[in-house]
Amino acid sequence: MVRQAYRASIFHLLGDPSDADAAQYFEDGVLTVENGHVAEVGAWPELAPRLEGVRVERFANGLIMPGFVDSHVHYPQVDIVASRGSHLLEWLSAYTFPTEARFQHKEIAAEAAQFFLDQLLRNGTTSALVFATVYKDSVDALFEAAQARNMRIITGKVLMDRNAPAGISDTAETGYQESRALIRAWHDKGRLGYAVTPRFALTSSERQLELAGRLLTEHPGVRLHTHLSENHEETAAVRRMFPDCPDYFAVYEKFGLATPQSVFAHCVHLAPGEWARFGKSGAAAAFCPVSNLFLGSGLFDLAAAEAVAARVGLGTDVGAGTSLSLFATMGDAYKVCQARRHSLDATKLFYMATLGGARVLGLDDKIGNFERGKEADFVVLDAAALPMLARRLAQATSPADRLFALAILADDRAVARTYLAGALAYSR
Ligand SMILES: [Zn+2]
Repeated sequence: MVRQAYRASIFHLLGDPSDADAAQYFEDGVLTVENGHVAEVGAWPELAPRLEGVRVERFANGLIMPGFVDSHVHYPQVDIVASRGSHLLEWLSAYTFPTEARFQHKEIAAEAAQFFLDQLLRNGTTSALVFATVYKDSVDALFEAAQARNMRIITGKVLMDRNAPAGISDTAETGYQESRALIRAWHDKGRLGYAVTPRFALTSSERQLELAGRLLTEHPGVRLHTHLSENHEETAAVRRMFPDCPDYFAVYEKFGLATPQSVFAHCVHLAPGEWARFGKSGAAAAFCPVSNLFLGSGLFDLAAAEAVAARVGLGTDVGAGTSLSLFATMGDAYKVCQARRHSLDATKLFYMATLGGARVLGLDDKIGNFERGKEADFVVLDAAALPMLARRLAQATSPADRLFALAILADDRAVARTYLAGALAYSR
């Protein structure tokens, strides 16, 4: 048995912060890890007597937290981040499609996958739900890279058989066959998971959406990952293309894609009736504030999602998002909610970036906090690398104040170390 202990301040959440006892903060805490899993977490003075003979690593002024969860991101789009353009639909044709076309070459996909995972770890992100491209090889490339690092990644082949250039389209049949082969090869292998991934309603035929629904029923446990109601031109086009569906969400409902395994990115312009059905379906939403601001898509209504008890995580949505950092994403989530007169505290922000994200991905029995037996994915934060943050923290009046300043001001420089299942995977 390999046992290891880490001493620093420790913060994690045992549940949704609407429960007053959900947050646990230990000023002088210790996390013990056994064979890659959490053994214990608590106050150092309490646990120290039981740790005789155990190697204790101490991080003075450090803060240990669960690794971050990115609920929606596109790995091939690391090459088009910060591309100036118009709104969503033009952005897809101008940047996304030409770039993703290059991923038919496995060596290009493999290099980008390594870079992408390196950057996730540098930002303290230990799990992600990821769009690959339409090419099967690009999915294999990301799974291979994630497997080599023992990293919790869920991804899938993009399904796209209309309204896209011929070179990067599949057909309903090939999309189904290749997805099935990928599910058999990768789903539930080690820490990997598969998501059936239609890009969005506009780029799939009715037949393709029907087969996506079939993949879900044939493979219980496989996720559904797509976009929903991101911008006004998009929602108007969906109404034209699916005249028999009363609204956008109804398209996914019609084909059996609105399930508790489903994660919908954006959900910016859902009508009250759509939110009500969204809540009933058990589906989850990925709130992507950086991307929504960058493309001018709109302001996500977190209160509407909470009113129907929908699970909500945070997505960086790189490349329309401009940072892989969950800190940048928490900062913009706060500002978007402020503009909606919904004021968030630090526990809510960190909840969406950790346990809330794990719940969105259906992984909260494995990751998201430091409950005994969970996989030890965690970060060690150290504010000393950011002079402004360090100065602000020196004035902090309470743990809540300290965490709030951290959520708003930190970036990848604050991530000193990232651990995957108890193993050091990144060190600054
Ligand atoms: Zn996206």
